[in-house]
Amino acid sequence: MSLSFDPDLIEMPIGHHIGGAFVAAQGEVPIHRPSDNVAFADCPAADVDVVDRAVQAAKAALRQSQWGGCQPRDRTRALQRWADLIEADAKVLGQLESVPSTRPIAQIKNGDIAVTAEQIRFFAEMADKEGSLLAPTRDDQMGWVASEPYGVVGAITPWNFPISMAGWKLAPALAAGNAVVLKPSEMTPFSALRMAELAVKAGIPEGLINIVQGNGATTGNALTGHPEVAKLSFTGSTVAGQAIMGNIARTGMKPMTLELGGKSPQVVFADADLEMTAQAIATSILANSGQACVAGSRVIVAAELAEALAAQLQVLLANINPGPTWDGTTTYGPIISEKQLKRVDSLVQESIAVGATVLCGGNRLDRPGCFYMPTILTDVSDKSPAVTEEIFGPVLTVQTFLSEEEALQLADHATYGLAAGVFTRDLSRALRVVNELEAGTVWVNRYGRSRDHILPTGGYKSSGIGKDLGREAYHANRRSKSVLIDL
Ligand code: NAD
Repeated sequence: MSLSFDPDLIEMPIGHHIGGAFVAAQGEVPIHRPSDNVAFADCPAADVDVVDRAVQAAKAALRQSQWGGCQPRDRTRALQRWADLIEADAKVLGQLESVPSTRPIAQIKNGDIAVTAEQIRFFAEMADKEGSLLAPTRDDQMGWVASEPYGVVGAITPWNFPISMAGWKLAPALAAGNAVVLKPSEMTPFSALRMAELAVKAGIPEGLINIVQGNGATTGNALTGHPEVAKLSFTGSTVAGQAIMGNIARTGMKPMTLELGGKSPQVVFADADLEMTAQAIATSILANSGQACVAGSRVIVAAELAEALAAQLQVLLANINPGPTWDGTTTYGPIISEKQLKRVDSLVQESIAVGATVLCGGNRLDRPGCFYMPTILTDVSDKSPAVTEEIFGPVLTVQTFLSEEEALQLADHATYGLAAGVFTRDLSRALRVVNELEAGTVWVNRYGRSRDHILPTGGYKSSGIGKDLGREAYHANRRSKSVLIDL
């Protein structure tokens, strides 16, 4: 079965989804197809009134459906039906997702959609397993820690994995008994609308999922500052995370989960399995053309292995099949926009200007659309922009070390601490290094998330606050109340 289709022939309605229904809206910001740089739709910008309508719809839905106080198993069943419908809708969802985004359709269908359905089921199964706790008080008293949903949760997601990011926010919040108002990225607004439609079909009460479209300055700001949004869950850049913290501090307090940027190291010791290591590093930087928060963009390798590793990486990074995201044979997608491509290139050129050597790439691909060549830079100092900045593109830097201590020094980033990789056959060294690395996730002899959704994800330092996935994400969507009764 071919997954390819003509993007000009599919209908992509764009508006909000409020109270269980599609709400048409006037488009304002052009949406581009990064695969061929064609502007094909306009994204509306929900203002404070539209955001308020969505919040009131969420509150009304919670009141009418008793979603937060119902038999938890009822939430489980509704969420499981939603996961089934999402999986069954892979063709349409895949098309809607692939056109504006950087995700090749085959990867959306077999990866993003399948994994998102699994994650929804994971959280659905938590609904009747986690709850209030009895407290060991005096016999003539009774005390407990009541676990309660927040009510309305606000969620804001980026463009790089739109379906997956929406799933990370919606699934734990709904399983934990909340309603959600979600603002997807203004660059990739379509798949979240479809997910909301499918939720209604699955029997999730209308109004529990509301989608408001728009940019950060107007819609995002209205959502984070809304006094009846009781908790905020955000994934995006550290700069936007800082702005959101500021807005929340100005407009009233609410707990926040912030999943932010990264600049993750992959530390390769001399005894590492060279072939496996090269494959893991190449896969991690080619995934979504380097536009992944956990992209392992800084290779830190034992000096004696550096040449051999770089040679293997060069071969693997040449083995790409670039193409439009809607073509089923594409394995390597574009950079999200011309603006972002220029940023990737200028960081590469600035690094070259301060001494970096280009082993491969270093330029845009000679084809229509926003494609950048997989790039390896060597001879980079720890001051090089390619080492310090989150490039968010297919750019690897290679730095060498002579001792474990030096490897750890290079791995440490002043700002970020999202993820890290360690490659060695020496178990004692692996454990020592895992303990030393300041990162929210460390992978050993592999790089990248598995389908073990019990493992939470989130950053140290300016890479974030709190976790997505795992039990942590479920608990982050509930608050506790201490109750004590004198009998
Ligand atoms: P971005 O910060 O520009 O935008 C993310 C979302 O926030 C968008 O929906 C945007 O409209 C909104 N937004 C922007 N400014 C806002 C504001 N002041 N108030 C409210 N909302 C605002 O990020 P992006 O370019 O869409 O995504 C790339 C970034 O996301 C990278 O830094 C990447 O590392 C990060 N990311 C992190 C994770 C993680 O799990 N840590 C996962 C994916 C992406």
